[in-house]
Amino acid sequence: MNKKDLIELKLRCLYYGIYINEETMNKLQKVDTHFVQGIFSYHIQDITYKIPHEFIMETGIVTQIRYNTESPCEIIYEEEKFFIKDKEKNIKVNIKFPRAPKFYEKLTSDGTKMYKVIQLAGKDCLKIYTSNYCEFEKLKSVCKFCTVDSSRRLQDVVYNKNLKQIVETFKEAKEEGYYGHVMITAGTYPTEDRGLVFISEVLNEIRKETGLDKIYGSVSTVPPKDMKYIETIYNAGIEYLTFNLEVYDEKLFKKYCPGKDKYIGREHYFKCYERAVEIFGAGKVRSNFVAGIEPLDSLIEGFEVLAKMGVVPTVTMLSLNEKNQENMGKDFKLPDIEYYKELYKNLELIYRKYNMKPAWCEKCRTTSLEHEGKYFL
Ligand code: SF4
Repeated sequence: MNKKDLIELKLRCLYYGIYINEETMNKLQKVDTHFVQGIFSYHIQDITYKIPHEFIMETGIVTQIRYNTESPCEIIYEEEKFFIKDKEKNIKVNIKFPRAPKFYEKLTSDGTKMYKVIQLAGKDCLKIYTSNYCEFEKLKSVCKFCTVDSSRRLQDVVYNKNLKQIVETFKEAKEEGYYGHVMITAGTYPTEDRGLVFISEVLNEIRKETGLDKIYGSVSTVPPKDMKYIETIYNAGIEYLTFNLEVYDEKLFKKYCPGKDKYIGREHYFKCYERAVEIFGAGKVRSNFVAGIEPLDSLIEGFEVLAKMGVVPTVTMLSLNEKNQENMGKDFKLPDIEYYKELYKNLELIYRKYNMKPAWCEKCRTTSLEHEGKYFL
């Protein structure tokens, strides 16, 4: 199968989710792979089985598994092999699951299993969710699409990790060859630095313990109240800084991100982007958007405005489950799949125009296709 068809299949798997029948699910329970989902759940229905985090198709295309009983895409098991089958497109592709890293079963000095502290995505992206809580939960103003509570409902992870747990786990993961880059994030912290001081301490300690000069990857938080903390995190040696605006249209931002609108403010986001680009440099600051919420025109306008400022736009494809459907409103519907093809096409053109590298790498980006926009041109 050619790569374009495989990329389209990845898009369909993220958009529709993936069905797995009970017999195949039982087989999957015994596969040597990783099942941990660190913070946000994208499953369309809750399920009691463990579900592998991702699968890999030919040519290394890695795709997150979003469980959905209604999807035309299904993982099947035949002749001792797993396949992803798309019944509408009549295609079937052999898939593999990445092996569970050895460090997952090791313990930190306080006896915590390391898989509860850092999770792996794709080949070598270490996901460090410093806290699985968000201040906007307390303030009853969570982003409407958000599933931050799902990791606490469904998963077996430490909700507030301490410095020692993170540094010890990182060292172990690095020794096993899993450090290519990090994705450090959390829910919103209540403090004026929005967690950047703690994350800086973590990065400084990691550098001290490993001898690394710089840490590849990104720290993602909401913008700090005082912009001096942008310098603090830069000095801690992280490569990229990310402030996720999520929705570009002003009215829709207010509607779907009430906490970010009220307690941070759209204007403050833009001031912080400006300052962050001054400090980190153009192309080293990022903003994620939740794709599927706003009209394509306004989303593309947002990509253009940010890219012009030196901020790399990225996207996560929205999935709806019972919880966020209720929050988004019962009449809210996802756009059709063509929306996403247009989106990735336009994103690719913007990356080319502003000479930007898409975020992450294609071997780790399980939830999006920023690297594959050229296949939609
Ligand atoms: S800031 Fe919004 S998206 Fe992020 S964890 Fe809080 S509610 Fe969720």
